[in-house]
Amino acid sequence: MSAVPPATLHARLVDALPDLLIRLFARPYVAGEGLESGLNVARRLLEGAGIVTTLDLLAEEVKDASRAQENLATYLEMVRGVAGETAFCSPRDRPTLSLKPSSFTTRALDKGGDARGSREAIETIAVEARRLGVALTIDMEDHTWTDWTLEVATALFKKGFDVGTVLQSRLHRTAQDLARIPEGMRIRMVIGIYLEPPSIALTEKPAMKERLLEQCAQLLDRGVYVELASHDDAVVRRFLRETITPRGLGGERYEIQMLYGVPRAPLLVAITGGTLTPAQRAAPPVRLYVPFATAWDQATAYCRRRLRNNPGMATYVALNLLQMLRGRSPGIAQYETAVRRLRGGASN
Ligand SMILES: Cc1cc2nc3c(=O)[nH]c(=O)nc-3n(C[C@H](O)[C@H](O)[C@H](O)COP(=O)(O)OP(=O)(O)OC[C@H]3O[C@@H](n4cnc5c(N)ncnc54)[C@H](O)[C@@H]3O)c2cc1C
Repeated sequence: MSAVPPATLHARLVDALPDLLIRLFARPYVAGEGLESGLNVARRLLEGAGIVTTLDLLAEEVKDASRAQENLATYLEMVRGVAGETAFCSPRDRPTLSLKPSSFTTRALDKGGDARGSREAIETIAVEARRLGVALTIDMEDHTWTDWTLEVATALFKKGFDVGTVLQSRLHRTAQDLARIPEGMRIRMVIGIYLEPPSIALTEKPAMKERLLEQCAQLLDRGVYVELASHDDAVVRRFLRETITPRGLGGERYEIQMLYGVPRAPLLVAITGGTLTPAQRAAPPVRLYVPFATAWDQATAYCRRRLRNNPGMATYVALNLLQMLRGRSPGIAQYETAVRRLRGGASN
């Protein structure tokens, strides 16, 4: 296997940015500080725009065991917080939780470790989540985690836990991994955020996106619940037009996912119809990935990585910030505005 390409000038620039600047860049994409901020955004998105969510604790680069324990404790609190919130009493409206295995270990696989503690932490969260009726998704980290994550997620699913995971179309191995996914499991399909060596992955986005659409269709044909996660308008529309419509599939078989704060509200609201909650309407659900922070050093690590791995993102972030400075909030307001527009009432 060839080595990951050397750090680019772009990556070095991102690494040199002060944390405060990274926090400013992250503002449109992060619900805020503390679980309550995440729950609040989830509640408002559901009630204001009929959009469901998956909540994520920003918890990367765990350096000591106590931090790993704190992250576990926060996830258990998240399970109870989501289950205890009356706005989410219908299971279809209830936020799911997304988690990264590296949040629970000081020995991350991508750092050459053995992931000690991660499996036990995820199992503990899964037990509590099943008790309270909350679904989990294990995010996919870089290729060093692929086998580990697929093994843990499919084992839990086969034991009856509502646990899904993620496949990345850029990795060549995904063509074989599709066959490991049991019928009925939830799989989020993405192109993948991690820069991977060309020996094991595609390097061009258009090819990744073609493969993404093909692999979504293959999973649907195998009876898997597909969560298409992409901000590419054309990809989302092609998925609906070329994959879903000809198969006559309903919203119990798939959903569209995007990151909170990426300016895609009109598309999302057009898909949902903008009036009813998923519990009331047939389909298809749109789910936003809503991260929140408890410790900003962990949150800035996440944002720095996203900027480092995606050179184009610096432009999106800058445009988003510009919108914010011009008074057009890319946060919750963009979704509420899109709903009002759809109903024909908005002036903004
Ligand atoms: C809900 C969700 C969960 C994910 N989970 C994982 C995971 O577990 N593992 C993993 O490897 N990857 C994950 N990803 C990331 C994914 O793999 C892609 O890297 C990411 O979605 C970019 O690909 P894209 O299909 O959106 O296309 P792009 O070509 O990157 O984006 C399409 C367009 O969207 C707009 N856009 C995109 N990002 C921004 C932004 N930040 N601000 C403003 N505009 C923007 C731009 O106009 C861009 O041209 C996830 C993505 C989503 C949406």
